[in-house]
Amino acid sequence: MMPFVTTRSRALQQRAETLLPGGVDSPVRAFRAVGGHPPFVESAEGAYLRDADGNHYVDLFGSWGPMLLGHAFPPVVEAIREAAGRSPSFGASTASEYELAALVRQCFPSIEKLRFVSSGTEACMSAIRLARGFTNRPFVIKFEGCYHGHADALLVKAGSGVATFGIPGSAGVPAETAMHTLALPYNDLEAVQQAFDAHPELIACVILEPVVGNAGTIAPAPGYLAGLRALTQEHGALLIFDEVMTGFRLALGGAQERFKAELGTLPDLTTLGKIVGGGLPVGVFGGRADVMDCLAPLGPVYQAGTLSGNPLAMAAGIAMLQKLIEHREEIYPKLERTTAAIADGVARLAAEQGIGLTTNRVGSMFTWFFTPNPVTDFASASASDTARFARFHRGMMERGVWLPPSQYEAAFVSTAHGEDEVEKVLAAAKEALRDAVR
Ligand SMILES: *Cc1c(COP(=O)(O)O)cnc(C)c1O
Repeated sequence: MMPFVTTRSRALQQRAETLLPGGVDSPVRAFRAVGGHPPFVESAEGAYLRDADGNHYVDLFGSWGPMLLGHAFPPVVEAIREAAGRSPSFGASTASEYELAALVRQCFPSIEKLRFVSSGTEACMSAIRLARGFTNRPFVIKFEGCYHGHADALLVKAGSGVATFGIPGSAGVPAETAMHTLALPYNDLEAVQQAFDAHPELIACVILEPVVGNAGTIAPAPGYLAGLRALTQEHGALLIFDEVMTGFRLALGGAQERFKAELGTLPDLTTLGKIVGGGLPVGVFGGRADVMDCLAPLGPVYQAGTLSGNPLAMAAGIAMLQKLIEHREEIYPKLERTTAAIADGVARLAAEQGIGLTTNRVGSMFTWFFTPNPVTDFASASASDTARFARFHRGMMERGVWLPPSQYEAAFVSTAHGEDEVEKVLAAAKEALRDAVR
């Protein structure tokens, strides 16, 4: 094995810490949960990241989701370049907003109308406000371990970095602000039924990750999504699918396409982000036209954004979605095969070494939980041995594989990953698993 040198990244991190809290602009990037120093990235291409010391890594976190077609995907890069030449922003409407909206609509039949924002956080925050405005009700049901961005009302028992750092709810969120957020266990329909009984005609919406990624990967139990659909309909609440992670990843039409047969009626509202911007900051909220038409300037629910529908971001999204739509028949089966080879391959190695590992995979997202027991909700995810995960993570980094730096995050595979990358990941994991349980 080549010596793993990180001298330049360390120096860059130390310099960054003097101006940026923790040296980062988003907490999990700091590697606090896994120890060691975060490499600083210089460039990336296809399935590989290159850091400031010249180390190469097979990328298994894909910018936390957007890089479904691999890094520096030429049509996306070209579209951004071309749009930049016409000026990066106007603060006025462009034809490109309709073009991307039409492509989103084509992929998600439940989205009759939509609005662009600049992040998944904004998309979810706006969808909640809209649901409350439309129903004229205050309460929101969310689920433990699900992450819907960092808006105040949604930072209750949240996943992602909130779970990684064991923050029960963020400081700076007054109890009154979160008072109308009900956080329930995922995959537990009974708890939802009880909440509706306890707050009759006061619940505006149920928001969830239809497949959880932000507590690590957790699939919905059979009948769970259909049960939520039935309960929300019965009680006049809106059902919001947060597909910021799963949209365009689990299928072209996200989890709602993948689980369509069981779901029956589609969600009322959907939020998107990550892949839809091709790596640029884009979020979307959309759904039923009667609900969306409550937004200003047509209706009384206010929502706005200086850079919303930014032309660079629209151009990147259009290039991305065109490719996905055109090549869906090859793309999704390939993602499925490559991800299964990686996820199941490491599961097999762990079994051979007698290590208790639970592998959860849905499409091209997966998590290796360091626990021998099934993971079906946040409580069972939390039973994982995070010290083992941290050693495994470190061992993989040293052998040129970059996993998300937390047990409570999903790993992602792109179309740029192939047999070579599968081999590299399995070879690294064989040794890193040994380190992990040492
Ligand atoms: C990433 C994510 C968000 C937040 O999106 P940002 O662009 O980081 O604000 C919201 N919901 C889900 C499911 C996500 O995975």
